[in-house]
Amino acid sequence: MANGKIVLALAIMAAAGCENNGEGESAAPAAGAPLSSAPAESLKGHSNELRRDVVKVTDTVAVAIGFGLGNSILVEGETCAFVVDTTESREIAQEILAEFDQLTDLPIEAIVYTHNHADHVFGAEIFANGRDIGIYAHETTAAEVNKAVNIIRPILSQRSARMFGTYLDAGDNGFINAGLGPGLGVTGPNGGSIGYLPPTKTFANRLETEICGRAVVLQHAPGETDDQIYVFLPDEKVLMPGDNIYKAFPNLYTIRGTSYRDIVKWAQSLDAMRRVGAEYLVPSHTRPISGRGEINDVLTAYADGIRFVHDQTVRGMNKGMDPGALVEFVQLPPHLKDHPYLQEHYGTVRWSARSIYDGYLGWFNGDGAALNPPGRAERAEAMAKIAREQTTLIDAAADALAADRFALAAELATLALDAGGDETRARALKADALSAMGYQSVSPNGRNYLLTQARELRGEVKIEELPDERSIAFTRAAPIANFMASLPVNLNAEEALEVERKAEFRFTDTGDVFTVEIRRGVAIVTPAPADEPDLVVETTSLVWIDLLLGRRRAAPAIATGAIKFPGGLGDIAAFGNFMKLFRAE
Ligand SMILES: [Zn+2]
Repeated sequence: MANGKIVLALAIMAAAGCENNGEGESAAPAAGAPLSSAPAESLKGHSNELRRDVVKVTDTVAVAIGFGLGNSILVEGETCAFVVDTTESREIAQEILAEFDQLTDLPIEAIVYTHNHADHVFGAEIFANGRDIGIYAHETTAAEVNKAVNIIRPILSQRSARMFGTYLDAGDNGFINAGLGPGLGVTGPNGGSIGYLPPTKTFANRLETEICGRAVVLQHAPGETDDQIYVFLPDEKVLMPGDNIYKAFPNLYTIRGTSYRDIVKWAQSLDAMRRVGAEYLVPSHTRPISGRGEINDVLTAYADGIRFVHDQTVRGMNKGMDPGALVEFVQLPPHLKDHPYLQEHYGTVRWSARSIYDGYLGWFNGDGAALNPPGRAERAEAMAKIAREQTTLIDAAADALAADRFALAAELATLALDAGGDETRARALKADALSAMGYQSVSPNGRNYLLTQARELRGEVKIEELPDERSIAFTRAAPIANFMASLPVNLNAEEALEVERKAEFRFTDTGDVFTVEIRRGVAIVTPAPADEPDLVVETTSLVWIDLLLGRRRAAPAIATGAIKFPGGLGDIAAFGNFMKLFRAE
């Protein structure tokens, strides 16, 4: 795949008459060249997905795509019609309303917001047209709109303008599209005006109601935002998932800035949507799809993509990887990487891995050198000096340490370690720098952290990674459901990439039953019996925990009847192979 891309890039560059200096992307492009690179071609191909169109999905449901960043969906009822999502400006909504007027004579008597984002709520006034109509949303949506509009608007709009390219054009500026739509129509020089209306009909978890004489299910489905809902029309089996799925890799983190998005819930919401058995899927970005089988496949791949990135990031994190290491470690397996709905035309795997790290552990990457790093001016001055005097990183670190510039010394020694070379000297320098910073720290947290890491660098201590007796006792005392929920982040994905297997676990001491499904690199645990299991295991929760923690061996447990395979679904080999996938290697 990677090689194919390089070949394609070279072919395109050759066709464009570009000279390649052998340094790939670092070559200075001629004017206009960025528009004919391999990434540009890929993104241009994606523009077709975003083309302006009004698609009749069923007799009563139509979706306007490509007018703005967001779609707007028209649903006709008995006596009136309603709109799901309103796009990001009054001007865009006006153009869509003109199209909807061609499709129906029914008045629009309600609006549903799938979530709080600008590209879904800012066009509302146009559809309401001055009338007091019902506006449905999750009960937290109004507060989220307030946060974006009033609390962090200055920085959010600046970064949104960059991210959506509202100051670019399709000429030499290199603009192609905005991933989820042809462009964002609310910031930048050509941005439209805001016509937001606050929700009037809100709910917490689920609302089964009638709108315009039609049965409508509104279900809270946290994902891309915490307030996300899906809309389901049970009579025609039309599912409107909001932004929990679109044809691009999910924006598990957005670079315009966002609070942590709980992506485990996002995957669970996709599972819940799969269970409704939709015949039509009409997202709020990109084009609708139909057919239960295809919808099922797309929702499954999307959930698996999210789970893979989450679980493997946490697994790497637990091994001690920092964000820089994680972006190298977490790579989608080929069947997900090549899936049409997981192309990085919006979110990316790398930003997601960083965000997951940050969501669990916050900004500190775990290296004491990054705790109180040198200021930007001090760092820049040091780099300039190294270049000017043609010294080495390690000598510069020694100089900084001798000058009592400990933060700088720690950072330069870290760089020297990363660059290879005299590792012993670099470790010693870093240890001394961290110790010195530790002794200066009035915070015991910082002091202890730095002094301990210095001892680790000197080889004086090694912090035990395996669980000790106390944590094992804690694990054994907690509900088995907690332990089962931790299995996915312990899955050895490399070993499980070709595995598709379903195991049912019955715990005779607690009465709990779980299904653990392994699906090509991801594990899904559900607290229910398995549908057509490959393996059924009956044991006690304590035996199972001890087995996975390596405190007990399977063969004697099976021989003594502590582990049974009811119905003959399983044997020691199948059980061993299954268990091995979750063992720390
Ligand atoms: Zn959106």
